[in-house]
Amino acid sequence: MNEFLGTSGLILNEPLLWERGKKGRAAYSLPARDVPESPLPEALCGAGPDFPDLAEVEVVRHYTRLSTWNYGVDTGFYPLGSCTMKYNPKTNERQAALKGFAAAHPLLPAPLSQGALKLMAELERDLAEITGLPAVTLQPAAGAHGELAGMLIFHAYHKSRGKQRTKILIPDTAHGTNPASAALCGYAPVPVPSDGEGVIDPKTVAALMDEETAGIMITNPNTLGLFEENIREIARIVHEKGGLVYGDGANMNAVLGIVRPGEIGIDILHLNLHKTFSTPHGGGGPGAGPVAVRADLARFLPVPRVIEKDGRYELCDAFPDSVGRVMAFHGHVGVLIRAYSYIRTMGPAGLRQASRLAVLNANYVRERLKGTLHLAYNRPCMHECVFSDANQQADGISTLEMAKRLMDYGYHPPTIYFPLVVHGSIMIEPTETETKEDLDQFCAAFKAIVQEAKESPQLLREAPERCKVTRLDETAAARNPCLIG
Ligand SMILES: *Cc1c(COP(=O)(O)O)cnc(C)c1O
Repeated sequence: MNEFLGTSGLILNEPLLWERGKKGRAAYSLPARDVPESPLPEALCGAGPDFPDLAEVEVVRHYTRLSTWNYGVDTGFYPLGSCTMKYNPKTNERQAALKGFAAAHPLLPAPLSQGALKLMAELERDLAEITGLPAVTLQPAAGAHGELAGMLIFHAYHKSRGKQRTKILIPDTAHGTNPASAALCGYAPVPVPSDGEGVIDPKTVAALMDEETAGIMITNPNTLGLFEENIREIARIVHEKGGLVYGDGANMNAVLGIVRPGEIGIDILHLNLHKTFSTPHGGGGPGAGPVAVRADLARFLPVPRVIEKDGRYELCDAFPDSVGRVMAFHGHVGVLIRAYSYIRTMGPAGLRQASRLAVLNANYVRERLKGTLHLAYNRPCMHECVFSDANQQADGISTLEMAKRLMDYGYHPPTIYFPLVVHGSIMIEPTETETKEDLDQFCAAFKAIVQEAKESPQLLREAPERCKVTRLDETAAARNPCLIG
């Protein structure tokens, strides 16, 4: 079949707009001129940008088609572990699109930005309530950026006590961004191995913690989807040696309204608003990674901070110990509005229920698949469950091949080969927004794939076969990201 014949309504390929454009076409019409023609000054002429000439319908069809090539939470199940790809209620989009917010200019003075500033102040209060940590900055643009802000606060804290430290403890079940963020602030990461149960043993921390160590950066629930149940004891050990406890709260979706990090020994924590608090994300789109801190660390938070004075809101720079600005203007305000809308529409009971269901769904998938796939740690999980390809070794099939085959069944693959502590890991985070029927169907597809691995492994080795782009040479594709044509 010649894929360039016929109509391109159901396209397999899509030319670039430059290939489609034809001189003289336009996507606008202007009324006939009723004044004499007057040439532009020479300086304004010359070669303009190389834009193709296109009709409106060509542009609309091009982008509408391309939009159907994407896979998103609105088109199907997206169990990408650690990423919390849950359905994002559309009402949040509506609030973010309200003209007063969407059209506000970031350089408007505070007296003309009262609505946005009030929303920010109230969101800070809500996040303080959720985390049990009383002071919050909304500036960081993502989780990793929140970590960086948190590490700058570690640095400022130790400096204020007269002695900088050189190392930081980071469990092997932490998110991969953690050691990078610490290293950017000059702290050498010291790995803390997890125990046979997939969590950190306080004795291991006690053996590593010393007065050269700035503290610990701990992901809880960790990347195995397990709750660090010794967190209080770990925090006590770290505090006793003058260190701080940083909590990576990107997995807060598991414990909203159930655990307040500030009450279990965590001093500084970031949240991922784009994950837990409902902004469509992925592909590097805008996020927000607010950081919450215990009361005595508030003086180090980035400036400007939103403050309330006599019922009016202002941005205030008068915090001499602050680590400074970490983001231009007010941060990613659109994400903040969505999070505010999400928190207010869900309410405390709704948020707690979301977390309970997220944990229930992950445990349901864990139970349904544990006879089929090897379960890395055979114990109840939080928001995600981690399997491996150990059972498929005998068939010569690996995690990558099963993940590729899932695409033929219409699913976005789970996170694979992460966390590193599990060889060939498959990390599934179903989130709370999926129905039992959808989870059952996903588990049935996974079981069918495992059966195929035994009976016709070639199907998996060549998968995906039904996608627009089939099996890629991954190295070449990364070096030359031109996948079609
Ligand atoms: C996603 C995630 C991060 C990083 O967040 P970004 O917004 O992608 O920078 C950090 N830690 C954990 C546990 C995460 O799941």
